[in-house]
Amino acid sequence: MESRRAELRTAPQHAEAWEDPLGLMPDDLAARAGEFGWPRFRGRQIFNALQAQRVQSWDEIAALPQRARQHLAAMAPWSWPAVAGRFAAADGTVRYLLRLGDGETVEAVYLPDEIFDAEGRALRRRTTFCISTQAGCPVNCQFCMTARLGLKRSLTAGEIVGQVLRLMHEHGIAAGAGGERLNLVYMGMGEPFLNYAAVMQSVRVLTHGAGAGLSPRRITISTSGIVDKIARFGAEPNRPRLAISLNATTDELRQRLMPLNRAQGGLAALAAAARAFPLGPRERLTWEYVLLAGVNDSLADARRLAALSAGLRAKVNLIAWNAGPEIPFAPPSPDAVAAFQRQLRASGLPAYVRRPRGREVYAACGQLSRQGVVAE
Ligand code: SAH
Ligand code: SF4
Repeated sequence: MESRRAELRTAPQHAEAWEDPLGLMPDDLAARAGEFGWPRFRGRQIFNALQAQRVQSWDEIAALPQRARQHLAAMAPWSWPAVAGRFAAADGTVRYLLRLGDGETVEAVYLPDEIFDAEGRALRRRTTFCISTQAGCPVNCQFCMTARLGLKRSLTAGEIVGQVLRLMHEHGIAAGAGGERLNLVYMGMGEPFLNYAAVMQSVRVLTHGAGAGLSPRRITISTSGIVDKIARFGAEPNRPRLAISLNATTDELRQRLMPLNRAQGGLAALAAAARAFPLGPRERLTWEYVLLAGVNDSLADARRLAALSAGLRAKVNLIAWNAGPEIPFAPPSPDAVAAFQRQLRASGLPAYVRRPRGREVYAACGQLSRQGVVAE
């Protein structure tokens, strides 16, 4: 009772403002609530309201005393990323331009899908969200439109979580049951492993059972190859799946396409990190490989890719390059893509061709570059 009474008094003067409430776990929230003299159960209650009920303001949490809601409004401001642009493609893909609290913008993509059986009957629906971890990207891959922005800043855990809550809200996807069929890919703007702590914190929040309740097995994090973080990620409990953007099979070419290659120890260090990565019983590591006509799409490239993967439980996602203005590459011919895939499969390496999604609205891989932003 004492704590309940304390809750109704004004917050103590020394209580500090809460930073980034959407990025906090129930225990973090309970500790903050404790600083206000509130009982610990408020932590889980607030977490559930923010992450599962998806309230959009403190005032909507009816279970909290009104005084508590007023304190929170003053001490813990937050908001979801605002929809500043919505670009829908014919295939159902929607690219969102989202504005963060400080006016910076990032992009997130909604990718609906239907799974068909052998007779072509729709079996079930599947939804994937592609979200951003940084505004822009510092890695400077030569084929990627996001690279042209440079790095504006890294996102907080709450800003990463906020993209998911925003898209769930826009598409009427419920937490829990809906969450089970929701796939999440950290493949939007930015290099997730250069914002490691916030990315992992967002994963913990999004997979918590009292919140959106996503399954870690349905989350994939894609990295351009930050080798020390690959090792660290491998040691995380309940970690998501890992995808590594390989894109070339010689150091000379990878250096040219992805200038971070040498500083990360080259292909040898990347392959060693991939080999040391502890995989679950049915898990495979994913190599992503952007096919650039006449640059990395020959059968010799495919053979080197297979050799590099020998003994590794890996699969390859082939992505035909998506064009962007003033980027000096060409998409591979469909024949070259098919031949490359056949060569990998003949070497025993599972290979899939990623279907391009939403190209005409700049929603496809490597195209997120704030197209359609209106200057303010
Ligand atoms: N920064 C992370 C995740 C985002 S990029 C990473 O690089 O892994 C997601 C994927 O899109 C990467 O595999 C990248 O190689 C690929 N990509 C970048 N630009 C592309 C383009 N123009 N066409 C096709 N794929 C591209
Ligand atoms: Fe950054 Fe990934 Fe684009 Fe490279 S491909 S510049 S790491 S977003």
